[in-house]
Amino acid sequence: MPDSWLQALPQQLQKLQDQHLQRHRREVVPAGGAHVKVNGQPMLQFCSNDYLGLSQHPALIEAARQGALEFGVGAGGSPMVNGHSTANAQLEEALASYVQLPRALYFYAGFATNVSVIPALVGADDAIFSDALNHASLIDGCRLSRASIHRYEHTDLADLECRLAASSHRRKLVISDAVFSMDGDVADIRALVALCERYDALLMLDDAHGFGICGPQGRGSLAAAGLTGANASPRVLYMGTLSKSAGVAGGFVAGSNTLIEWLLQRTRSYTFATAAPGMLARALQQSLSAMEEGDHLRSQLQARIAQLRAGLAPVLAITGWQLLPSNTPIQALVIGDNSKALQLMEALRERSIWVPAIRPPTVAAGTARLRIALSAAHTPQDIVQLVNALQEIAGRSR
Ligand SMILES: *Cc1c(COP(=O)(O)O)cnc(C)c1O
Repeated sequence: MPDSWLQALPQQLQKLQDQHLQRHRREVVPAGGAHVKVNGQPMLQFCSNDYLGLSQHPALIEAARQGALEFGVGAGGSPMVNGHSTANAQLEEALASYVQLPRALYFYAGFATNVSVIPALVGADDAIFSDALNHASLIDGCRLSRASIHRYEHTDLADLECRLAASSHRRKLVISDAVFSMDGDVADIRALVALCERYDALLMLDDAHGFGICGPQGRGSLAAAGLTGANASPRVLYMGTLSKSAGVAGGFVAGSNTLIEWLLQRTRSYTFATAAPGMLARALQQSLSAMEEGDHLRSQLQARIAQLRAGLAPVLAITGWQLLPSNTPIQALVIGDNSKALQLMEALRERSIWVPAIRPPTVAAGTARLRIALSAAHTPQDIVQLVNALQEIAGRSR
């Protein structure tokens, strides 16, 4: 078969390499706090989604160990057959109670949650209204649903309203990240809910980066908007990941009893994938307690955010780099030019500091950036080290 498409793969890989688009993984070992060993070299990292530093928490590790002793290390089947352990059932209760919504459903991964919850809600005759900067898992879920997809300008509610008003679809689903993963900005949740009421739509809110961080006791962006508990709306499906602030792995959705029962019946990755191991549910239950009692962690995180923003002000003044407004752990330092952003990442790497450069198409053309992720595990000294390094590099390249 001379023209097999498989024979073209080496050339295509070569092309990626030539365009500097080939991606490489690094081998990472935790080394305490925000320090890691990367391919054997010690580095200070600013790229983790483990915003509260819980992934290394002794109480979570112990809970996982006890969970393994009680439930083994694998669930053995779908939650619809034999995989729904008591640990997983108790975690769902704890999740619902933590986010102050009637009921929750626990999935083995956040990505799998989004990809299959959306097609369970809408289909070919329906319409989805999706923020232009939504996460890849939401985009894939939209495509899988076969609904007609209306992409509205990022956080532009006037644009969203125009599109809702023009739609004659009976079922309308509005989807938004609550905290956007590349800019660190936030959606206006109350306004989104009001629009959904006006146009009889359902709102799905992905709070991967707000769960554990925003709202009282870290209960999430919906709680921060005052729309949980007695004020919960049956029009909102809340989604969170358990792999970021919660420090473990998994995803969940929470909302009205009816909505969750429907998803339990209809979501393919819930029915046809093996349930998450009970040991992880046990670690997560411990994590929920740590998040609920984690005001000190959240205030450490806020202090580091303030320290970084204040420290970078003089650097911005001499470079023209832009630090996007954000009081979330995601601090985007926009450099603009792709190769300049890469050079900066490299110059930091030479100083044993690891900050990822994010380039188009992940972000808009001309907005290549360093995506600085902060954590409660960073010490004030860690921030000083990053700020000093950036200052020195900026001064040198002037
Ligand atoms: C990380 C992320 C996900 C996927 O969650 P995982 O638990 O990593 O699978 C979904 N949505 C958003 C916005 C994310 O940032």
